This record gives sequence, structure tokens and C-alpha cells, in this order.
Amino acid sequence: MAALSTNIQYLKGVGEKRAQLYGKLGIFTIGDLLEYYPRDYIDFSHPFPIAHAPFDRPCAIRAKVSAKSPEQRIRRGLSLFKVLVTDGQSDMLITFFNAKYTVSSLKEEQVYLFYGKAAGKFGRREMASPLFFPDDPNLSFSPVYPLTEGLSSKIIAANVRQALDTAEGLDCDPLPDTLREANDLCSRKDALGNIHFPVDERALVRARRRLIFEELLYLNLALGQAKRASQKEPAALMKPVPMQGFYSLFPFSLTGAQQRAINDCLTDFCRAAPMNRLLQGDVGSGKTMVAAACAYFSAQNGYQTAMMAPTEILAFQHYQTWSRLFQNAGISVGFLSGSLTAAAKRQIKEQLAAGEIQIIVGTHALLQDSVLFQRLGLVITDEQHRFGVSQRMALTQKTPDGQFPHVLVMSATPIPRTLAFMIYGDLDLSILDEMPKGRRPVKTYLIDPPKRARAYGFIRKHLDMGEQAYIVCPLVEQGENSPEGLEAAVEEARYLAERVFSDYAVGILHGRMKSAEKEQVMADFQNGKIRLLVATTVIEVGVDVPNATVMMIQNAERFGLSQLHQLRGRVGRGRCESFCILVSRQTDSPRLRAICKTNDGFRVAEEDLRLRGPGDFFGLRQHGLPTMKLAGLLEDMTLVEQARSAAMNILRSDPALQLSEHNELKKRVEQMLTTAGA
Ligand code: ADP
Ligand code: MG
Repeated sequence: MAALSTNIQYLKGVGEKRAQLYGKLGIFTIGDLLEYYPRDYIDFSHPFPIAHAPFDRPCAIRAKVSAKSPEQRIRRGLSLFKVLVTDGQSDMLITFFNAKYTVSSLKEEQVYLFYGKAAGKFGRREMASPLFFPDDPNLSFSPVYPLTEGLSSKIIAANVRQALDTAEGLDCDPLPDTLREANDLCSRKDALGNIHFPVDERALVRARRRLIFEELLYLNLALGQAKRASQKEPAALMKPVPMQGFYSLFPFSLTGAQQRAINDCLTDFCRAAPMNRLLQGDVGSGKTMVAAACAYFSAQNGYQTAMMAPTEILAFQHYQTWSRLFQNAGISVGFLSGSLTAAAKRQIKEQLAAGEIQIIVGTHALLQDSVLFQRLGLVITDEQHRFGVSQRMALTQKTPDGQFPHVLVMSATPIPRTLAFMIYGDLDLSILDEMPKGRRPVKTYLIDPPKRARAYGFIRKHLDMGEQAYIVCPLVEQGENSPEGLEAAVEEARYLAERVFSDYAVGILHGRMKSAEKEQVMADFQNGKIRLLVATTVIEVGVDVPNATVMMIQNAERFGLSQLHQLRGRVGRGRCESFCILVSRQTDSPRLRAICKTNDGFRVAEEDLRLRGPGDFFGLRQHGLPTMKLAGLLEDMTLVEQARSAAMNILRSDPALQLSEHNELKKRVEQMLTTAGA
């Protein structure tokens, strides 16, 4: 038996190397592994006869390997393996690419369960690169884990199985019996067993419900406690100052909505309790301007402002705009990100501590303990849904002389109130429901891939007029494991630069590039040296180049609607008419058609919610709740309410979680707050 805190290497088959791979997934202990939940399950309980395998979704097939062909080299770096299988009635041809080792583990005359998407014509069925398992009548649901290279679901499942068998302390449930009974929740032990290896569908549903409830409960307890703590703190105290100096920095005048939002904030800044406000506005509605006004006000009151953005590109861009802007007002702006040299970081930190920098723009590098402010009065986070709750709290705790900074959170995603509470804590809301004048809606078209050449012609026309364009691809680079038929940025950029736009400067931007390279490319795109930028979704948030007027999105079906809308928001920022071309085989997809019809982000979000359901829409990725491992499975909004009211009940009777029955709860909440901030 081993405690949950035991190092993962305790498990059989987990040596130093595999432990390192687990480390990449944030898994260090047996307990971590048990909380690494499957992202999906393969249903082996109803295998299909080959002849009846559906074409529209993956399915399981039980079949015997009847023949294997030798490796066929198709071209350099690509070899094909063919395996013929039979279920006694029909045959099926299975192909694998570059999978020598995988194929060698398939033995002739043996029966396997294959899982994949069938294709073919008439009665014939084929399958490419299916998963397979040795036949096992007890196999009903097999877990599929989010993977990292070198760790397959099979390996993880075997390790989890052993962890479940050997871990001690699983019987101790952090949720008190009364709470479990009141909310009809199964035990933690049952939940963990069934989330990995469900005995049937009902058990899986119960397991999920229990685990989601638990996560929501911790989150709500943490938020509830943080709120009580912050209400006791005195706020950074500001008083009204003239704003004319700020407004004169701009060539344009504010929209009414911007004016209202700024007034909301400035009023809050002059109150005794710290502001906690969410600024919600569609892409391009001018949220940054509101943030800048707040930062100006804070600086005029002698306070520092920290502005945190989710990506390096975005942070750097804000830094550039703001340092130019505030220079004319005599306000100093600094930049901090993980990619700076140690010396540069040290210097920035010294300047911050000495109060020489009044506004610091940066990434989550701002959250490090070593970042100390002289007098922090305002914390702004842009596109906050990328940050976790506790990350934001980590920054707000950096009070100077016992004062609590005001907090402004900016988001382009409209979120129902309950979820907003969950994500941001209890907060006030300002909405930018008005676009700056003269904005023309982006015209969006959906085309199928054969029309791509014509679309390139269209892009060329706009480049010829001196404008710029983006091409967005779902992948960085083609690799062994990339799904078929997906465009990759690296290859696309090469192709376009050599074949299609050889007379224009084509640039590339993706997440695997070094920060300095990314900055250089963004700068070159901004100053027009690069005319056509091929990128992955790294440009999704916030990037602002008004001269860019055309965006083409490859494999548009791969993106969520709200994500497409965010991407599309990169064009239509200047005076020229702008276009977004979605390329997809699914030209009759209701989702893709919906986004062509509206430019209104709130509409898009509603539609997304309607088509995908809350589980996907409020997925982990979108809100970046680091602790919410199961948030992506959040199908049930009433569960959110239940967990919230359970948390409030607990805090009402035991505000500091001091009762012995809440021991375990308290530990979990504290753990969540410390680990998630990293
Ligand atoms: P958001 O962050 O809400 O997506 P931004 O703050 O980046 O939007 O603003 C988008 C663009 O609109 C920027 O180029 C900005 O300078 C410009 N802008 C902001 N407010 C106004 C306004 N009142 N009138 C004209 N242009 C504006
Ligand atoms: Mg923005």
C-alpha cells in the first residue's frame, strides 16, 4: 500500500523516464495520477459487425487478424502497413502509417477489439490507424486520456489501475457524509474507480457528478473565503483627478459605452472597498481604452498599475501601445515576461519596487513572489478567462501598505452570471455594447477547399492595394500523429511564400517559436514589412493591426464558434472593409453558417451554447480554470447551483472551516489556492 502523496515511480513500470513524461502532465504522485481523468471513453460494450460499421462516427469492431502485408515505402518518411481482419462474416482492410512498432504487436490469428472510424463504399469497410486492444470480454469502457508524446492511454490506464489497487486513504472522503447524502453523491473512492474504469454508463454519470460537485465546492469555498478576506481590506484610496490630459492623447472620442464603463470604474476607485469589476465587450469594442483610462487615473493618484495578458504577444503589444501613449503624459510603462534575460528582469523588478515604473504590462510572470510593488493600486487582467481564479488572487494579494488593489477583469466572452461568479468571484459588471464609430462589420464567407486558389487571388488583390492579411491554420507542423487533411502553418507558409505570394513578404507565427522571434515577426507585421502572416491561433486574442483586412481560416470546422469570432476580430479594426474566409469541407455545417450571418459576439456565443451545450462551451480551455479538471464535462448547470449553495451553507456555519468534519475540506481548499496559482 502507498499513500496518495507517494512518488509516481513507486508504481510498477514507472521508471525515471516515464516519471518525467508524467511530470510534463503535472503528475508527480499517485494522487495526481488518480486525478488525471480520461477525456473520453471507448465503448467496447457493443462492437459492430464489420458490415454494419457506421461511417459517421468511430466505433468498435471485434475481429481476427488474417493477414499482414510487409511494409510499403510510399515516399521518404512515409511508410504504409496493411492489415486484413475478419469477423467471420466480412473482411476489413486496416492501414497504418509509420507505425512499424504498433503493427508488429498485432499477431496473426489473434482476435482484437479495434476502434476507429470506418470508411469505404458499398459493403466494403476500411479503417485507418485504429486503436486496438487484445480481446477481453470484460472490457466495456476503456479510458482515453489526454496524452503527451511517449505516454499512450494504454500505459496510463495500466498505471491508474495499479494506483487504484495500491493507494491507501481512498476510503477517507473529504466530503462529510451528511453533505453527500443531502446532495446524492457517491463516495470518492467509487467515483475515482468509475471515472477511470466505469462498470456501466450509469456509474460513469454518478462518478462525474460527484467529482464535478467536489471541484465546484472547493472553488466556491475558496471564492467565498477570499471574498470575506477582501472585504475586510481597505482599498487603495484614490480621489477624482482631471482626465482631460488622458483624452487628449487620442485622435478619436469615446463611445458612450466606454464613457459609462470608465465612469463606473473611477467611481469605484474613490470608494473605501476595493473594486472587483468585469468589463465585458465584444472584440473590437475598445476595452483596452477603458483599461488605459483606469491606469491613467491610478497613476495620477500615485498608484502603480499591473496589467496582465494571457500571451506574450498580446502583453508585448499592449506594452508597445501604452508606452507610446503614456510617454506623452509623462507616465512610465514597463514590460515583464518570462522570456526576458535575468538581468533585464532584475532591473524591471527593482524599478517596480522603487516606484519608478508606474504601469507594468506583462504575462503571468507578474505573479512571481519576487515581483514587489512600491504602491500597487490597480490590477487589470485582459482576456481573463485564460487565467485561473487563484492566479488573479495571487496578484491582488500583493498589497503595499495593507491596502487592497482594485481589480478590473476584461473579457470578450459573455458568460451567464452563475458561471461568472464561479470564474471571477462576486463582481460588478460593465458592458461595452457599442462599437467605435465607422466600424464596418467583417464580411464572412464559407468556401470549400477547391475554391482556395480563388481565395488566394482575392487575398492578392487586397495585398496589391497595400493591405495585409492573415492565414490561420489549426496545426503548427505536420507530424507523424497529426490527423489527416489538416493544414499546418509551417508547410502552408512555405508553400505560399514559394508558390503563391513569392513577390510578397510572408511571415509565420506559432507557439513553438522563441519569444524574441515572435516579437520580431509581430513587429514586422505591425510595421508592414510582413504583408501576409501565416499563424496558428496564437493570434486569437487581442492582436491589433488595423491595416490587416483579410483573414483566411483553414479547416474552420476545427475551431469553436467563439474562437472563430475571436480570430475574426483581428480584422475589421481599421477604416477599410474587411473579410473573413472560412475554408472547410463542411460547407453545410450549421455552426459555420451561423457565424457567417452575424458579427455580434453575444449572438455567436448564444449560438455556440445552443449547438454545443454548456459542457463544451464552458470547457476547461476556454476559461482556463486550472483546478477544474472536469469543467469540460459540466453538462449540468443545476450542479453549479447546488455546489454553490452547499459551499455557502458550510461557510455560514463554519466560516474558517475549523470544525473537525471540515478538516479535509480545508486542506483541499488551501491546496487548490496554492498549487493553482503557479
Ligand atoms: P478590444 O480589446 O475590446 O477587442 P481594442 O481595445 O483593442 O478592442 O480596440 C480595438 C481598436 O479600436 C483599437 O485599434 C483601438 O485603438 C480602437 N478604438 C478604441 N476605442 C475607440 C473609439 N472610441 N473610437 C475609435 N476607435 C477606437
Ligand atoms: Mg483586447
